[in-house]
Amino acid sequence: SIVVTGATGALGRLVVDDLLATVPAEQVVAVVRDKEKAADLAARGVELRIADYSRPETLAGAFRSGDRVLLISGSEVGRRVAQHAAVIDAAKAAGVAQLAYTGILGGPDADFTLADEHRATEQLVLDSGLPYTFLRNGWYTENYTANLAPVLEHRAVVSNAGEGRIASASRADYAAAAAAVLTGDGHLNTAYELSGDTAWPLAAYAALLSELTGEEIAYRNVPAAVHQEILVGAGVPEGFAAILVDVDAAIERGRLAGTSGDLARLIGRPTTPLAETVRTALAAAN
Ligand code: NDP
Repeated sequence: SIVVTGATGALGRLVVDDLLATVPAEQVVAVVRDKEKAADLAARGVELRIADYSRPETLAGAFRSGDRVLLISGSEVGRRVAQHAAVIDAAKAAGVAQLAYTGILGGPDADFTLADEHRATEQLVLDSGLPYTFLRNGWYTENYTANLAPVLEHRAVVSNAGEGRIASASRADYAAAAAAVLTGDGHLNTAYELSGDTAWPLAAYAALLSELTGEEIAYRNVPAAVHQEILVGAGVPEGFAAILVDVDAAIERGRLAGTSGDLARLIGRPTTPLAETVRTALAAAN
């Protein structure tokens, strides 16, 4: 079977959609912690296996020998190394044929706090000896477009990323790449640096928003400490604000700017342009 963890998340749902377009539903398994949330997947013929990354005993039945597995990294920052370790142990015990993991662009070279848990997880996967595929995802364009309301309200894109560029792609692009490595051959013991075809600076994002809305939307680059204050003032928890500010500093250093072309090659088409994702988000906001 092809097994997707985190299948009720935004990325996981897109991966399952892609799989169902190419393989029979009886070959697709969703590992989820909340059965109710996955009712629609079950209705489409996907087998559910209930497991929580935080409860290793629940993971014992999640995988079978020969399964091709996608471990979608968890969303509970700070708890993920232990969580992922439990999933990897269960996959190893079952004897899966492939363990694909959604890490971060740059892999071992990604030198920002958010990357720490991904780096540690990749090492655990390597130590397991399982055949692996590393999907080192760059930034989702949706990280920006999901946060349009305050940008439009204050008419400013605020960051401490300077002129740093971001080779973002849409979540659907990354999902298509995951589905491709789970259904195709030649992806074992391989790391892919997945990112958009074009790297753009936040000033270009602000200019694009101005053009598409007819409003003057400025790019406001501020010192890290000021950005931290603004985020906390907007209700972002202090620790997470620090992680975001640290990511912006990494963006300024070019850490999310790489354009290897791996993503377009895996999905067999160009990645989704920034403008397309922004247009879709603006249309949804209206
Ligand atoms: P979501 O938050 O939508 O999905 C996360 C998934 O992980 C959910 O299905 C969630 O389950 C599942 N999950 C979290 N904790 C556990 C747990 N303890 N046990 C079982 N399942 C768990 O994020 P996305 O789908 O958008 O992104 C996927 C992952 O990619 C994120 O979790 C994060 O690691 C990373 N990410 C990367 C970004 C990038 O720009 N590259 C941006 C944002 C995230 P449930 O549905 O029950 O909540």
